[in-house]
Amino acid sequence: MTRVIVIGGGIVGLTTGLALRRAGADVLVCERAPEIRAAGASLGLWRNALAVFDSLGVGDGVRAIGKPSAMRFHDRTGAPIETPGSTAADHEYLLAHRAKLNVLLADAVGAGNIRLDAEFVGYEEHHDGVAVHFADGRTEHADLLVGADGAFSAVRGLLVPGARAREHVGHHAWRAVLPPGGPEVERDVMVLGRNGSRGGYTRSYDGGVFWLLSQFGSPALTGTAKQQALERARDLDDGGWNSSLAELIEATPEELVLHNQIMVVPPLPHWTSRRVALVGDAAHAMSPHITAGASLGVEDAALLARYLTTHHDVPVALKAYEADRIPHYAHVAALSKVVEDSASPWEFARSYAAFSHWMTNQEPVAERDLGVRP
Ligand SMILES: Cc1cc2nc3c(=O)[nH]c(=O)nc-3n(C[C@H](O)[C@H](O)[C@H](O)COP(=O)(O)OP(=O)(O)OC[C@H]3O[C@@H](n4cnc5c(N)ncnc54)[C@H](O)[C@@H]3O)c2cc1C
Repeated sequence: MTRVIVIGGGIVGLTTGLALRRAGADVLVCERAPEIRAAGASLGLWRNALAVFDSLGVGDGVRAIGKPSAMRFHDRTGAPIETPGSTAADHEYLLAHRAKLNVLLADAVGAGNIRLDAEFVGYEEHHDGVAVHFADGRTEHADLLVGADGAFSAVRGLLVPGARAREHVGHHAWRAVLPPGGPEVERDVMVLGRNGSRGGYTRSYDGGVFWLLSQFGSPALTGTAKQQALERARDLDDGGWNSSLAELIEATPEELVLHNQIMVVPPLPHWTSRRVALVGDAAHAMSPHITAGASLGVEDAALLARYLTTHHDVPVALKAYEADRIPHYAHVAALSKVVEDSASPWEFARSYAAFSHWMTNQEPVAERDLGVRP
């Protein structure tokens, strides 16, 4: 039986652990935190990710902690922005509770296959295996090491020296979830505003509200995270039609406002060696303006497991996985740049829908023919 060590107990590491276990591997997911948790509030999952979760037997559970939502934009005066040529399905996603999602996935992986307080610090690769070292002095041996340790991946630091996450300059995001019982809103609103700002709010599956704001090309930040969010909310509300956004931010305790300087991982020359592979943000942390990093990372997890079961030989499977993923993400990056470079909210909405259409109309991972490629 193939033994696999997965570093990172985030959404992608846990999905990798689950997919590999279902493929018959002996898996240990190692997470440096003392518990399974998730940075962030809510997560938009598209149908490509839901198809993976269905194939792994957890789709219904994931839907039970999410709210079916639609990504449709308004301009800053409140007028809906049409996206001619897109279908209703191109806008549909599930707004899932991030922390509950990771707990659900961890339950499916099984507590006995997860080690907490396990900080990866290094590895040595041999011809037929890999020795994996942890901060507490332990070493584990495996046939395969998977780095699912996020944008600042220590596994990537050794596999692709020098490939560091870098700031997406001037791109910031602010968000929070207000639990049920707090302020209520009657609809979901997402706005493309002035000065590169975007944001709005949406109701969560349990009666809470999730709000978010982000900005390209932000000037230097001043004040608290809450003040920064409030300042940007003005760029999304010409004429006072969208006062709910500012009210939601006002109602949020400062400590619940999560601010991120957006980080990206530049395209990597390789994602694998004979016995080591990257998945998720460790390989491709991207700007979240296309709302896709986790959904795409979930596909990496399922594809890696499928290549391993198709090819049996670990180094051959990893080469095939890499040959699949690198061009795929070159295309993601190109489409993402088109959205980012949009000259107007109308262009942004259209290219966003075009990206979502492309992403969600790829052949489902579970059905792809992974035979020998030219
Ligand atoms: C503002 C914002 C909004 C976003 N919204 C969306 C969205 O709506 N939809 C979407 O699809 N994507 C979204 N994304 C992207 C998404 O959050 C990421 O793509 C996703 O969380 C990546 O998951 P991951 O498991 O690869 O990495 P992470 O979630 O970063 O998990 C990595 C895990 O590895 C652990 N770890 C790190 N180093 C070590 C180590 N040395 N040893 C052991 N463990 C380690 C960490 O503790 C962590 O648990 C958004 C991103 C941002 C910043």
